[in-house]
Amino acid sequence: MVKRLVLASPRGYCAGVERAVEIVERALELHGPPVYVRKQIVHNAHVVRDFEQRGAIFVESEDEVPHGATLVLSAHGVAPRVHANARSRKLETIDATCPLVSKVHAEARRFAARGFTLFLVGHAGHEEVEGTMGEAPDSILLVETCADAERIQPPQTERLAYITQTTLSVDDTREIVDVLRRRFPEIQASKKEDICYATTNRQRAVKRLLGGIDLLLVVGSRNSSNSNRLVEVARARGVDAHLIDDESQIEDAWLEGIETVGVTSGASAPDSLVQRVVAWFRERGVTEVDELEAPSENVFFALPVALRARSKMRAVPPGRAVRREAASSVAPVSHPIRALPASWPRIRPSPPGDEPHSETNS
Ligand code: SF4
Repeated sequence: MVKRLVLASPRGYCAGVERAVEIVERALELHGPPVYVRKQIVHNAHVVRDFEQRGAIFVESEDEVPHGATLVLSAHGVAPRVHANARSRKLETIDATCPLVSKVHAEARRFAARGFTLFLVGHAGHEEVEGTMGEAPDSILLVETCADAERIQPPQTERLAYITQTTLSVDDTREIVDVLRRRFPEIQASKKEDICYATTNRQRAVKRLLGGIDLLLVVGSRNSSNSNRLVEVARARGVDAHLIDDESQIEDAWLEGIETVGVTSGASAPDSLVQRVVAWFRERGVTEVDELEAPSENVFFALPVALRARSKMRAVPPGRAVRREAASSVAPVSHPIRALPASWPRIRPSPPGDEPHSETNS
């Protein structure tokens, strides 16, 4: 029987998702419905459903948007041809691409302009990968696995570099990069890690959590890359883990013989969904709910200039206390959540260098 919940921290919304969600909210305020959004603004079913109810229309392609309408581009970024196509259709485009994805796009352009062949470590079919490859389609080769890294044959070996998707497993990516470095010792990389601070910190938080839990529940949607990676981190260390959109997907069979359940959420999942999971367990008699202590991420990305100017929004300082959430149904928490100290048991130690990341504003 479950006696205790322990919440990971940090978890949930990252600065890029907060910004993207706020962009759609501002666009709806400014333009009124319908506002078109290319692909899911962030990979979370609740967020998308909530925006649909408020007048957003999600489309797969800019070709589906009526001429002259407002189109928001998702946080995952798009290839330059999408911008060009939107311009040719006279769409009013608002770009919600996360600045950390834009950074990877800029690296791709910079290396390609210098004649480099680039390996992009990432997952085929993910929107971010499609957008990044679109920056230099003739210069980028996709590498998904260590096996890919072992067999890939670039057209030249004089100028090679690698970049990565922002939401990968830190450990798996390290292994793939090690193969590339062994095969191509001169390979270059960007100065700063491409896997983003939010992905890294959430994986580290899960590793800390694993020391004292029997089961991990990750709140996030199936198509959320960083949420899936959190499940994998737990399973790779021998802890059973499940990805759930919300509390309705918890299966009783998972909880048999389980005393302590860890809960975390992917970077695109609103914390209200975690609070609903907490409430679900409280209704079943769990009174002990703790949260790991963690340093604040204190990351904030400004809205696009045009949107700020038009909405005359007030400036929001870094580290603001209020989280914007598209999913409006926040479950009340009837008991305070206790903070667990940083010295919480670490039965499965994290690898060296697992300190939390922060990120400067951009
Ligand atoms: S997960 Fe990272 S790259 Fe993706 S939106 Fe959040 S901060 Fe940006």
